[in-house]
Amino acid sequence: MTRWLAEYAWLPDHAEPTADVLIEAEDGRFTAVTPLTGGDAPTTGVEVLTDAVRLPGLTLPGLANAHSHAFHRALRGRTHGGRGDFWTWRDRMYEVAGRLDPDSYLALARATYAEMALAGITCVGEFHYLHHGPGGTPYDDPNAMSAALVEAAAQAGVRLTLLDACYLTASVDGRPLAGPQRRFGDGDAVRWGERVTAFTPAGGHARVGAAVHSVRAVPAEQLSTVARWARDRDAPLHVHLSEQPAENDACRAVHGCTPTRLLADRQVLGPATTAVHATHPTSADVGLLGESRTGVCLCPTTERDLADGIGPARRMADTGSPLSLGSDSHAVIDLFEEARAVELDERLRTRRRGHFSPVELLTAATAGGHAALGWTDAGRLAVGDRADLVTVRLDSARTAGVPPVGALFAATAADVTHVVVDGRTVVAEGRHRVVDVPAELGAAIAAVTP
Ligand SMILES: [Zn+2]
Repeated sequence: MTRWLAEYAWLPDHAEPTADVLIEAEDGRFTAVTPLTGGDAPTTGVEVLTDAVRLPGLTLPGLANAHSHAFHRALRGRTHGGRGDFWTWRDRMYEVAGRLDPDSYLALARATYAEMALAGITCVGEFHYLHHGPGGTPYDDPNAMSAALVEAAAQAGVRLTLLDACYLTASVDGRPLAGPQRRFGDGDAVRWGERVTAFTPAGGHARVGAAVHSVRAVPAEQLSTVARWARDRDAPLHVHLSEQPAENDACRAVHGCTPTRLLADRQVLGPATTAVHATHPTSADVGLLGESRTGVCLCPTTERDLADGIGPARRMADTGSPLSLGSDSHAVIDLFEEARAVELDERLRTRRRGHFSPVELLTAATAGGHAALGWTDAGRLAVGDRADLVTVRLDSARTAGVPPVGALFAATAADVTHVVVDGRTVVAEGRHRVVDVPAELGAAIAAVTP
């Protein structure tokens, strides 16, 4: 059994953190979560707990990064000099995609996931579409890239949901894949499903889900094939949705409806589905997402970086869509920044403050994200849940003097000191126990960039 003594811990259904909490775990699960001081505390004194690992600062449940493209980490700081928009950025992204193979992707993803661990991320949803070799020729193992990502997560010490993306066409009107995109394609949704079905991830840290890359990349008549694959396996299903107005315009021109309406008509929406971005939905779209309990994964730092716009987060949450968060293009890997951006972006849009409570933002970063990735037993400091812990120091230059309840609005990823995933310590005293993160990132990115 392992015991931790948290100076403050944020317990489920509490509006703010609790002081002096003893947390115990065995076999990767919490077995007891006990406040030691205050009203209903037992008589045990804090001072007698000599065997417990002390966690000074604020301890949170594990953070879930519900939307990642690991290789985009290589683009950080390389696309910011010029003008342009999402589409010019995408051309740079394809250059990196063209250079990766299973070995170089393992190295890059291992370093990227280790950066996530340092930031307190205990579980990542990898929206994976770089499936095949140059020109679209499958590797000897057609799931070699998937296996590299699963192994990378194991080495970095985080859980992974591999969201295997079906990516068949270059545009809503069905233009064929060209250039680097040919590495993404399986031909049709049936063959996509056969390839994914043949893949069993090695290790209990990983599971497989499905993704529709977008309505640009999967023809309307094949959407339900992907949705059925996920439904038959009780697997999460993710889809990029209305990140760009251009996607809405193209969908209306070809199908006479919005992307959300098209997904609804093809049985893609539902409680196991997560729409990523949902930046430009119509009011009717917001209704379709909420009534079907489709989740929405917001990626504010990427949406900001790519000049996408601001989605109607509050309206979507109010209509019934559970929220989760993702660092997507990894311009920033910092779930604190993503969480507060949900509130701060609403302020910019409405010129009013106070749209989301700290607990709502924390839930999106923790239990909401884990649920969107199929791990419904993670993201809470609660008996029976997976033993994930993230401790944030409250004595750094950024967090000194900040009350624990305000940490989400003050802390950064650099303030994370201690991370436990499934009961195992992955980060201690702010250092990853296995990976030299800056050195490995530098080497892995140098290997795949010009
Ligand atoms: Zn994405």
